[in-house]
Amino acid sequence: MTHINHHPAPDLLRDFAAGTLAPSTALLIAAHREYCSHCQQQIANHEALLAQTALEADGGDDQPALDGMLETLLAHLPEHTVREPEALPTAIQPLTLHHRTFELPQVLARQLHQPTRWSALPGRLHQARLAVENSHLNFIHMDKNSGVPTHTHKGREYTLVLHGGFSDANGDYRLGDFVCLDQRHQHQPQTDSHEDCLVISALEGPLHFTSGLARLFNPLSQLFFR
Ligand SMILES: [Zn+2]
Repeated sequence: MTHINHHPAPDLLRDFAAGTLAPSTALLIAAHREYCSHCQQQIANHEALLAQTALEADGGDDQPALDGMLETLLAHLPEHTVREPEALPTAIQPLTLHHRTFELPQVLARQLHQPTRWSALPGRLHQARLAVENSHLNFIHMDKNSGVPTHTHKGREYTLVLHGGFSDANGDYRLGDFVCLDQRHQHQPQTDSHEDCLVISALEGPLHFTSGLARLFNPLSQLFFR
């Protein structure tokens, strides 16, 4: 398993276990969990605690009666009543860009039923949208020696690194790292000369580009958020 330096905040892991996150955010946490044994354990702890709390709230005394009802029900079920649904063929598409295929966490790979349609953005960036229920995520690919101009955020931005890595003034982010930024953070993600970077992001609001020439990119924020 990959060594991870940046994890979702504890409240995000708790809300993930409780099933109260937006589907797009939950998908990013589930993908991070595939890389991260630490968060696997934290989520399992939250789930165990929630299950315990739910049992206690139901009152443990009713359990023998419930067991009895279940046995009665099963005894009266005719054989073969319950049929497995026939398996549907699933056409999962690989994520490719310029004839390269990127390996994805399983929960993300299972979402790709269409060939990915990339948009080229200024600065050797590519962006592709992944629809998730009523929302969407964005794959963003940064070529070697490229980056996103300095920007702040008008809502939270969750980012998971899927290939390579990038840096900003706050640190270095590698495969499996999970980053949460908001309007308090201004940053300029950059790749180095050795490796490109693929991330997937969930945005609650558009980016806002702040520095000199990069303000010309503000229309770009609509592309990222679209
Ligand atoms: Zn983690």
